[in-house]
Amino acid sequence: MRVRRDTGMGGRMEDCIFCKIIRGDIPVARVYEDDLVIAIEDIAPVAPLHLLIMPKKHIANSLDLQPEDDALIGHIFRVAATIAREKGVAADGFRIVNNNNAGAGQSVFHVHFHFLAGRHLTWPPG
Ligand code: C5P
Repeated sequence: MRVRRDTGMGGRMEDCIFCKIIRGDIPVARVYEDDLVIAIEDIAPVAPLHLLIMPKKHIANSLDLQPEDDALIGHIFRVAATIAREKGVAADGFRIVNNNNAGAGQSVFHVHFHFLAGRHLTWPPG
């Protein structure tokens, strides 16, 4: 019997809110899109520019990454750099954050990278 691979925290891919956004079931403006990834504005921004960059492929979080995803993750970082230049925040600085599991603040179990810019970003993060 083929066992369907469920997402982290027991969430199913069919129920994944980001998969619904990627499929277009939930209409959300796309700041960036290509064959592999989309970037959208976070619904609850914590910075003047707060985007979510995510692969179209459903991956629950970094713990589920496979060797074949290496190029995809590298691509996401280059997309972030492209967005930073296009949005004019590259020189002032931007931050990429990836939360893994609930203890680190992950609430949506489809791997995504917060892109934060537009204000001074303190270190360490909370
Ligand atoms: O790292 P974490 O999993 O908590 O990030 C999920 C992010 O997705 C949150 O910042 C939340 O505001 C955002 N979100 C969204 N649109 C939704 C659901 C969540 O922008 N429909």
